[in-house]
Amino acid sequence: MIRFNLVCDAGHEFDGWFRSNDDFTGQQARGFVSCPVCHSEKVGKALMAPAVSTGRKKEKIALAVGEEQKQVLAKLKEMADAVRQNADYVGDKFADEARKIHFGETEKRGIYGEASVDEVKSLAEDGVEFMPLPVFPDDHN
Ligand SMILES: [Zn+2]
Repeated sequence: MIRFNLVCDAGHEFDGWFRSNDDFTGQQARGFVSCPVCHSEKVGKALMAPAVSTGRKKEKIALAVGEEQKQVLAKLKEMADAVRQNADYVGDKFADEARKIHFGETEKRGIYGEASVDEVKSLAEDGVEFMPLPVFPDDHN
């Protein structure tokens, strides 16, 4: 038996025991795996349990860089810098500000900042348009 840390689409975490990974996949596909809290069948393995459980933790993305990716990254960094130059930095108020702009409660402008996994999910549900901005290791210098 294997124990999996599972999480539903509402962010509830729970444990499940399965004979194998295939057993889990099969049961999941047939909708046999459901959340004990909200009974959602949209359940997946919690790959980043600590980040999901707090909900407020900011996502950190690590990039593995090979020689051939460096040029692409340089281009991406250029674009990200351009975005930052033309947008207001709102820090962890990103979700609030993006929502206000979306609903016309504040001046329409470009913003960037940080959002938690939960905030990103709820922005998407509200139809707020945004895109992830690549974070580079030297951005905080
Ligand atoms: Zn749930």
